[in-house]
Amino acid sequence: LSKRDYYQVLGVGKNASKDEIKKAYRKLALQYHPDRNKNSKEAEVKFKEATEAYEILSNPGKRQKYDQFGHAGVDGSSGFSSGGQGFGGGFSDFGDVFGDIFSDIFGESSFGGGFSGGKASSKRRGQDLETSIVVDFEEAAFGTEKQIRIQGNKVCGDCGGSGLSKGTKLETCPTCHGRGQTYVKQGFFSMSRTCPTCMGAGTINKNPCKKCKGLGKQSAVKNLKVTIPSGIADGQTLKLRGEGDIGFNGGPSGDLYVHINVKEHKFFTRKNDDIYCEVPISFVQAALGDKVEIPTLDGKIKMKIPAGTQTGKIFRVSGKGIYRLGGYSRGDQYVKVVVETPEKITREQIDLLNKFEENLSMSSMPKKKSYLENIKKFFN
Ligand SMILES: [Zn+2]
Ligand SMILES: [Zn+2]
Repeated sequence: LSKRDYYQVLGVGKNASKDEIKKAYRKLALQYHPDRNKNSKEAEVKFKEATEAYEILSNPGKRQKYDQFGHAGVDGSSGFSSGGQGFGGGFSDFGDVFGDIFSDIFGESSFGGGFSGGKASSKRRGQDLETSIVVDFEEAAFGTEKQIRIQGNKVCGDCGGSGLSKGTKLETCPTCHGRGQTYVKQGFFSMSRTCPTCMGAGTINKNPCKKCKGLGKQSAVKNLKVTIPSGIADGQTLKLRGEGDIGFNGGPSGDLYVHINVKEHKFFTRKNDDIYCEVPISFVQAALGDKVEIPTLDGKIKMKIPAGTQTGKIFRVSGKGIYRLGGYSRGDQYVKVVVETPEKITREQIDLLNKFEENLSMSSMPKKKSYLENIKKFFN
């Protein structure tokens, strides 16, 4: 019986990265998982083949041996390395591979009922959940409390979370006879596999609870109060420990991740703890100076604009920014004044402006003055 090349099995190149190998295996495992292909011998073979290839290629030491010596280099390698202790070394190795990839692929909670009720006897942590909420600019600045509803689960009332029908027990897995591992003979050696029927639990749930189909939980809407800390920024995520999906069979709950979306503000934009706004003023205000009303997060304030202010000038209003995350100090507010040139003016205003321009001394306009001088020099 000749074996296929492991790289070929996973459909990756000889130089595939660890991630590429994992991705390829994940795809095949999802496609050929025994629980998705009930009674298909072909799928089972494919699943085993891919799993074996992944076990070797995901382990740098084994992969190196395989690259060097081919199948002969890795067959029964666990038997060798454990130095006469039988399968010892091989087992733990393998458990890690599976724990890792299956929680990655299927999420921890789908392990249970989803797959033949396997591993039903063990406690498992609930899945992490995520949701997102929208908060106002001000709410993000000052912090707030938000009421949210999330679709989660509660312990199944019928079975108390065990996933079993009343009066029934978990049964020993017929495939692995309770060992959680199956063995494949490779010539002289045996290789161990996590049992595909029970996923290593050694037991199966033959009489799943009718209400929850063996999952041990029922869907339920949960209302939660979320404290939004002051200073939170758009795109940040809050982690609410233990507010995720309930654990299985008494295991701890997962966590809830709340993604924060901060609404845009009519006046303000934000950069770290500082806020920015623009205030239009007339050129008369800019020339003569004025006190203008500006918005802040704490309400309106008057800001002095000195005479001769140029357009684009930025004024700092200290301590009117965002509260630093979790702290009491605040950032600043930056106010950019933009001189607005008047449009649609009357005949009378035009006359006034013309008179103004005629009397305007070049020393009042230093930028214009030097510009004109430079232009002259340049073209002479
Ligand atoms: Zn139930
Ligand atoms: Zn089994």
